[in-house]
Amino acid sequence: MPSYFAEQALLPTGWAARVRFEVDAAGDLTAVTANAAPDGATRLHGVAVPGMPDLHSHAFQRAMAGLGERAGPRGDSFWSWRDVMYRFLAKLTPDDIEAIAAQLYVELLKHGYTAVAEFHYLHNDPTGGPYESRGELSERILAAAGATGIGMTLLPVLYQTSQFGGKPPTEAQRRFVLTTEEFLGLVEKLMQRHRRDRQVRIGIAPHSLRAAPPEALHAAVRAVHSFDASAPVHIHVAEQTREVEDCLAWSGKRPVEWLLDETQIDRRWCLVHATHMTADETKRFAASGAIAGLCPTTEGNLGDGLFPLTAFLEGGGAFGVGSDSNVATSPVEELRWLEYGQRLITRARNLADRTEGASTGASLFRRSLAGGAQALGRPIGALAPGKRADIVVLDPDHPALYGRNGDTLLDSWIFSGNANPVRDVIVGGHFVVRDGVHPHEEQALADYRRAVKRLGA
Ligand SMILES: [Zn+2]
Repeated sequence: MPSYFAEQALLPTGWAARVRFEVDAAGDLTAVTANAAPDGATRLHGVAVPGMPDLHSHAFQRAMAGLGERAGPRGDSFWSWRDVMYRFLAKLTPDDIEAIAAQLYVELLKHGYTAVAEFHYLHNDPTGGPYESRGELSERILAAAGATGIGMTLLPVLYQTSQFGGKPPTEAQRRFVLTTEEFLGLVEKLMQRHRRDRQVRIGIAPHSLRAAPPEALHAAVRAVHSFDASAPVHIHVAEQTREVEDCLAWSGKRPVEWLLDETQIDRRWCLVHATHMTADETKRFAASGAIAGLCPTTEGNLGDGLFPLTAFLEGGGAFGVGSDSNVATSPVEELRWLEYGQRLITRARNLADRTEGASTGASLFRRSLAGGAQALGRPIGALAPGKRADIVVLDPDHPALYGRNGDTLLDSWIFSGNANPVRDVIVGGHFVVRDGVHPHEEQALADYRRAVKRLGA
């Protein structure tokens, strides 16, 4: 059983000195002791903080970053970007998907994400037909996670319609579509196959209210909770104003309002984006116990809008961050832009925690650890007994961090540019990044280049 020792570490009780971590054979922390002796433990050369959960990713989109940045003939929006994305994914093979995911996960790990929730909607082959195994593409994502060492909450997506009111899916959406029965068969099989793996959790993701009709949505949530009573449920909601208008026309309710009225939103749920809400929706969502899944770099890239963070926090709301389209692969960039968005719109500063003297970076970091862990449904996000031994070691000699301590060190990490001070990363008690190097990175990059070359051909 490994044990580790750090001169400084961020624990649930705050910053502690001379901390010793004991890890069991399963990769869980069994003891975390401050003011301890290092005897026999592996010394961590830096400041130990919990690994960050990434609560929303579509791995394949990593390979199309930058391909949606040309102006179109009639102005561009989320919807024209989505057409580019649909053309891109139409060509992906299982090997491509695994290679892109592995490259992404290496990058996420190297920046301090130690677990990811993959909102996985590619199920069918390019013709829309089934693979020999229904779980082919899900298993490719799990294989990429296993090879790179990142923790995985896999959320197979339920996708059946192209618009509110049961409009049939388009040809471009044929790789996503499963009947409710096929979908639940896939979920149950994945749960059975991976139930003993401490690094994996299976949940579900009804794609959105426009893609998951009410009967299918209710049936899927009921069934998944009969398989696993605490399984995570994630859904995209209110990302675009057009979606809000369409939902109002269909039901007389706004998307978040509809979810709050028609389903039992609770701590198992993660509402991804929830950008466009009234004050009343914001308050009710905050009180529900569900997590807001915020993806500021993608939301900025797609022109979605700004989440009402300060009102949501005043209502007691909880959030985590996600890399979503993976135009950025660092938790720091999400947290920074989350705060900057609020600053730009309010023309004020230090908005994530307005208690006098509170550190903005530390507040953002702690809240997104807790919210991300809840959304991923795994024992992560804190350096405490019973949690996974997911530890990120920051280099205190890095120019971005030198001379900084405690919360100020987190402020400097989050608000000082793009140089990466993550030195080592431990997941489930094992080093996956050492001195900035992931042992799988050369192989992952070679496979990734092959996939990108083929996709460009
Ligand atoms: Zn998404």
